Amino acid sequence: MPPAGAANQTILHLTKSRLAFERSQKVIPGGVNSPVRSCKAVNSTPVFIAYSDGSNLWDIDGNQYIDYVGAWGPMIVGHRHPRVLEALEEALLKGTAYGAPCLAEIELAELISRLVPSMEMVRMVNSGTEATMSAVRLARAFTKRSLIIKFDGCYHGHADSFLVKAGSGLATLGIASSPGVPEELSQLTISLPYNDLSAVEKASKEHGDKVAAIIVEPVVGNSGVILPKEGFLSGLRNLATKMGALLVFDEVMTGFRVALNGAQGKFGIRPDLTCLGKIIGGGLPVGAYGGRKDIMEMVAPSGPVYQAGTLSGSPLAMAAGIAQLKLLQAPQIYQTLETLTNKLADGLKEIAKKTSQPCQVVSITGMVSVFFTKEKIVDFASAQTSDTSKFARTWQTLMDKGVYWPPSQFESAFVSLVHSQKDIEETLAAFQVAMKA
Ligand SMILES: *Cc1c(COP(=O)(O)O)cnc(C)c1O
Repeated sequence: MPPAGAANQTILHLTKSRLAFERSQKVIPGGVNSPVRSCKAVNSTPVFIAYSDGSNLWDIDGNQYIDYVGAWGPMIVGHRHPRVLEALEEALLKGTAYGAPCLAEIELAELISRLVPSMEMVRMVNSGTEATMSAVRLARAFTKRSLIIKFDGCYHGHADSFLVKAGSGLATLGIASSPGVPEELSQLTISLPYNDLSAVEKASKEHGDKVAAIIVEPVVGNSGVILPKEGFLSGLRNLATKMGALLVFDEVMTGFRVALNGAQGKFGIRPDLTCLGKIIGGGLPVGAYGGRKDIMEMVAPSGPVYQAGTLSGSPLAMAAGIAQLKLLQAPQIYQTLETLTNKLADGLKEIAKKTSQPCQVVSITGMVSVFFTKEKIVDFASAQTSDTSKFARTWQTLMDKGVYWPPSQFESAFVSLVHSQKDIEETLAAFQVAMKA
């Protein structure tokens, strides 16, 4: 049950959250277990969540919010979906972990492989970070090369090799890279501007024979939403093949969100390896990587590339993931999600026009970002021209009006299948107030 609180709040009462944050900061670095949750980037402090249902969150003071964070991606069918809860309850009664294979692991791998055909074989892990880290190790082993090409503002989890110009969390907090990552290792990562094929061509001329992989968010979510230009992804496909490098799509965010077969299905590109996470765990900790059979067969124990996990293939995570992927196969699901997303995005564009705000609204099925800038958003540099203090003020007004928007300019908001027309209308009304101010 949601905690009791002031119905129809007009200003937020955050007494309990403020106290919880003070307490939390004494035992947890920064008071949170993942940096963006601190709300530092919007000059605020977090609300602590007590309950969720459908498109809503409730904090421990009893304030209710329309949720556009969606646990940062997984909650595409909304919170506490009855089918997902049922699957979890059923799995729970059979135990929580076996450390031995179970049938649910095959079922989820088969589902993924059928829906994302480039993933001929799949290995389950526990997070997106593990998926990308393992995929790059595999690419290096397969090609017997060391360099990786990534793109500025793309986030591939927090493994050492990727913490070079890595978007969101780092951009939000103004950390260019991270202490603790050896210089020697970051020198193996080449970071180039997203959407700039000529930069990739140039790098391929200089280093092509040393590049193991090109890794990319096919649609960027971790600098806010940035769409690939026509020809960018197919250009990467061609260049990777020409260099003898593997093309790795990091679809941890876009997988099962922008389309049932991911961004690779939507844009018609077949990567060599794909990383998944978020949606495929139904809200439980999960990641997966997979791709060409000849490459995946190099993973231990069928091959020499070591990678393991005590809780990998968790029966609970598998059950929630299977339930969620089954729901997503119903007819019209992605049309519905796209219509809802467009209603929100079009409404935001309308408000920007009416209030004469320099503002870019970028969206794709299930993902939306609002950038306060005149510049067209094509890469990380253009995203960074946004007025982040205006974003922070807007965010605060949205919170006061009961809209839980991601607390960073450089994150995507997520629309779920259970956001109602009324939710979207209330959200637009809140934006209207925020953007007038
Ligand atoms: C969230 C995300 C990751 C990291 O996943 P975790 O489960 O947080 O480790 C990697 N890549 C992309 C594109 C993501 O959005």
